Amino acid sequence: VAIELINTGSELLLGRVLNTHQQWICRQLADHGYEVTRQICVADEGRQIQAAVRESLSRADLVLTTGGLGPTSDDITRDLIAQLLGRALVEDPAILSTITGYFAQRRRPMPASTKVQAMVPVGARVLPNLHGTAPGLAMEVNPNPFRESGGRSWLILLPGPPRELRPMFTESVLPLLRNEFPLAQPFVCRTLRTTGMGESMVEEKIAGSLEFLRPVGLQIGYCARVGEVDVRLVGHGEKAEATVRQAEEIVRQLIGPLIFAIGDGTMESTIVQLLAERRQTLALAESCTGGFIAHRVTNVPGASAVLLCGLVTYSNDAKKNLLGVREETLAAHGAVSEEVAREMAEGARQRNKADFALAVTGIAGPDGGSESKPVGTVFIALASKSGTVMEKRFNAFDRETFKFVTAQQAFDLLRRALVTEG
Ligand code: ATP
Repeated sequence: VAIELINTGSELLLGRVLNTHQQWICRQLADHGYEVTRQICVADEGRQIQAAVRESLSRADLVLTTGGLGPTSDDITRDLIAQLLGRALVEDPAILSTITGYFAQRRRPMPASTKVQAMVPVGARVLPNLHGTAPGLAMEVNPNPFRESGGRSWLILLPGPPRELRPMFTESVLPLLRNEFPLAQPFVCRTLRTTGMGESMVEEKIAGSLEFLRPVGLQIGYCARVGEVDVRLVGHGEKAEATVRQAEEIVRQLIGPLIFAIGDGTMESTIVQLLAERRQTLALAESCTGGFIAHRVTNVPGASAVLLCGLVTYSNDAKKNLLGVREETLAAHGAVSEEVAREMAEGARQRNKADFALAVTGIAGPDGGSESKPVGTVFIALASKSGTVMEKRFNAFDRETFKFVTAQQAFDLLRRALVTEG
């Protein structure tokens, strides 16, 4: 299946918005056995959008567009496509009533311009929008007048905002794709997300032992990001499921403790899940991460069942007053030290009556380093009923990456403790 993706939006070409749809949609398709053959980004400009769609339809079986379905004057995709395909736009009463309901529920007046979103090209299938007003539109172009070989193609228009596009893609586009373009052979993809070891080391540990599965169709991919390496196991054909399962078992035997999540799972969702299963609670005492660890935990639905408190104790006074860190400890060892991290974690645990407390203190830089504690030095402490464990790390990155990696290491310290305690 040849699939082309057209992202529309002048803001993408001006560098004001990062084109995350490109990554997200390509990844979704790849994980379901489909491949994007070409991707293009065009401005919200009539002729350009039409030209791009026409060109893509001349090659592809499926063309996806994103953006430009809203009610404002630069949202012109719907009109242009109807024009290109020579289809009339007809008002759909069901969409209109959904849009009216959307505004009524929020007690907001409905701008007249919103009504254009209820206009549907004749013959188009409507993809419901659960988080906004502009529905997606899917059209079978049959016969496809733009392709020499003729045949049929599908054209699917999706809205711009990610929170509207993503559920629509999962709930409407993938089923349509499976139905209209079934895969020639079974396809299975499983991504094991690891942390604590670099990409080449991960490969060195597992590649040799998986070699014998390659002839039966196993493909292995590695994707490294700061603080994590994804191992992607793909199988094709009748034995795909069994092959991938066997490969996963081998990887688990070799580097099981490094795997923190599967597929789209995150470190923080694993932490919340592990704590919730055990009915245990967490308190946080953060210095150099400035609340980022608490931010990540609270991104997970259900975090309130496990997170009791997240304190950002940046100054020495805050560490003393809010966590009970002792003046002598600060004077003797400095705020960035194993001893202070320990007292922060123990203070946070006792004061909040938590099962676990994580504390971090470090030097994010670019200033503030010394010979004995260079920029990037960080101490992570985990207090629990079995005592306090410490890790000293060296994360010499820019400040944002420093926060992410430090949070990742702190979570992983807790994850390993939870998993080993059972
Ligand atoms: P709206 O009703 O909001 O106008 P729309 O379907 O017309 O929806 P656009 O106006 O094209 O969509 O985009 C709306 C917003 O969605 C953009 O301002 C941007 O923040 C986000 N967005 C659009 N395209 C992308 C993209 N490719 N990647 C990430 N975000 C995007």
